[in-house]
Amino acid sequence: MERRVSSRYPAVWVMLAVLALFACLPETANTAGPDPLSVTVLYDNIPFEKNLQTHWGFSCLVQKGSTRVLFDTGAQGETLLGNLKKLNVDLTPLDAIVFSHIHNDHTGGYSGLKAELVTDPPVYVLKSFPAEFKQQVKAIEVSDPIIFPDTDFRTTGEVPGQPVNEQALIVRTPRGLVVVTGCAHPGIVNLLRRATEVSGEKIHLVIGGFHLLQTPTAEVEQIVRQFRSLGVERVAPSHCTGEAAIGVFRKAYGTNFVESGVGKILQIDTSSTSN
Ligand SMILES: [Zn+2]
Ligand SMILES: [Zn+2]
Repeated sequence: MERRVSSRYPAVWVMLAVLALFACLPETANTAGPDPLSVTVLYDNIPFEKNLQTHWGFSCLVQKGSTRVLFDTGAQGETLLGNLKKLNVDLTPLDAIVFSHIHNDHTGGYSGLKAELVTDPPVYVLKSFPAEFKQQVKAIEVSDPIIFPDTDFRTTGEVPGQPVNEQALIVRTPRGLVVVTGCAHPGIVNLLRRATEVSGEKIHLVIGGFHLLQTPTAEVEQIVRQFRSLGVERVAPSHCTGEAAIGVFRKAYGTNFVESGVGKILQIDTSSTSN
């Protein structure tokens, strides 16, 4: 996706072009924008705000500056709409809906939501989604990572997994990447590796499902070590991570563990890069 300077241009022109670029662009041109980031968990089987309804599935609203992206829709439109109302969150305007993978606990809420949406935001799905679903949501199919123009939003693109492929949402911040995962069927570490490959930056925080329900503790501990070697600074696991695995992350990450669940509003202070 990235543009590269072709080797057919003489080196001197390339140098002049680079110098001109540095002279004209503000210093922050290639760094993440300073707007604060918030992630609001709208749908989760794990409770956080007691007055919201828990139900198996995941959905969250990710906002940075004026850009708002809905990631997944949970399983039931009614539950999603009810939680939105209790949270006093209006999904208008919405720049995009991104689906992590085809499973119903992440996509089932769409039709109910769509009936209530005033606007018609583009819906991004993976190429491997069933044709029927793609037709139903008038989807934009993607396989490669997406860069949403003029924003700090990216996706990992399609990462192979069992039983289904999946993508994660990436948001760049001055503190590093915030990666939002659905169910992590390709393996949470594989998704995170892809996120760092796509963006070339370290990961500040991971929020969402890590899919470790059946994973023995020793293996979860190994995954925590892989998180460390990838430089993941903070974690907010929920949905399909499993209570035991969440416990392992809580213990390992200490003050950098973030309790999550339905109603959690995670705000990342982007004004400084210190913790
Ligand atoms: Zn799934
Ligand atoms: Zn799921």
